[in-house]
Amino acid sequence: MSLDDAAEELASSLGVDKTEVKTDLEKLVSYSVPMDEAKQSLRRKYGDGGGDGGGTPPKTDIGEITPETGNVTVTARVLTVGTRSIRYEGENQTIFEGELADGTGRISYTAWSDFSLSPGDTITAGNAGVREWDGQPELNLGQSTTVTLEETPLSVPHEPGGDRGLIDLEPGDRGRNIEVRVLEVERKTIDGRDGETEILSGVLGDETTRLPFTDWDTHAGVREGESVRLEDVYVDEFRGVPSVNATEFTAVEPIPEVSVSESGTELSAREAVAAGGVFDVVLTGNVIEVRDGSGLIQRCPDCGRVVQNDQCRTHGRVDPEDDMRVKAILDDGTDTVTVILGRELTESVYGGTLEDALDHARDAMDREVVAASIAESIEGREYRVRGALSVDEYGANLDANRFEGTDDDPAARARAFLSEVDA
Ligand SMILES: [Zn+2]
Repeated sequence: MSLDDAAEELASSLGVDKTEVKTDLEKLVSYSVPMDEAKQSLRRKYGDGGGDGGGTPPKTDIGEITPETGNVTVTARVLTVGTRSIRYEGENQTIFEGELADGTGRISYTAWSDFSLSPGDTITAGNAGVREWDGQPELNLGQSTTVTLEETPLSVPHEPGGDRGLIDLEPGDRGRNIEVRVLEVERKTIDGRDGETEILSGVLGDETTRLPFTDWDTHAGVREGESVRLEDVYVDEFRGVPSVNATEFTAVEPIPEVSVSESGTELSAREAVAAGGVFDVVLTGNVIEVRDGSGLIQRCPDCGRVVQNDQCRTHGRVDPEDDMRVKAILDDGTDTVTVILGRELTESVYGGTLEDALDHARDAMDREVVAASIAESIEGREYRVRGALSVDEYGANLDANRFEGTDDDPAARARAFLSEVDA
């Protein structure tokens, strides 16, 4: 809506002069006040005619709030509080995010000031803004919001607090607490918003699953093999997989050793693809085709990208390094994914080392013989594949860390069959 239209609409609904409203609106917008907030504040200034005194929005049940609802007043229990630093108009700003609940529903919130919220508090947020995020309403607690602590706790059908198993984490979660073992960690230098920054990245595990993580504050307690409680982490998405983020606001405490799930999550290909990505998944299906780009390949020595005719897209003409991989289409009857085997697994399905494969190609005077030999041994057979599945616009890729023929271990197959019969 243009400023002119907004002024017109406001003036007619408030019964005041349009020019005056427009001048006020222009001023507020020039101070970077968002249009919705500017309109609200003019409604207050000119009196909404609602007769409820000063334009305090009505008390609203969380279950009734939609993205179209105007400002509201809610009484709710604070379920979680997460702290983050964001860059807003060139400045670092600390914001607080989490979930509120009453007896009718739950809603995410963002607080732009420190209202000293704690999980379990019952609060009344007066004049909270409503905005849409991903199709859902969200509460905005800003400068024009008043937050008062209620003496009597509101009873809600949700347990306040952020403790979760890794399997229950979803992108968008804030203020979560996890108890995990650090399975892998490496230190990296990245080009962050404040220039070059050191971060830690790796893999965390608990009894439920494993997930990738980034520690933006390189906590000393985050070391390979250590079990830790991380308080106040947030979750975002990396290539369709939930990813845990620790920050300067995350507290890290050593705890007794956490046992880690040894088995990945067993899903059908359709379920895994529909999930948009799964970090540690097990799929069972038939290899229907070994794709081009399998067998002997060559990589740029600088960036590791696959190169053809000694040309890297980034580094131009290079002296490439030989490598092996397999890109195989796996079909389990519900959907297909492309399984990618790295060098080690490729050597094992080929039945020889990279040097053997290079000899093989030299003798045949054809590098394609390696891919052909791999295709002959795996096409048409059923495999159990474990790894990280990511989904993008080009399809679903499963980066395998295990690749086992289901007929490799007949005893295990028999046990699995018998347990199905028993069940
Ligand atoms: Zn390169």
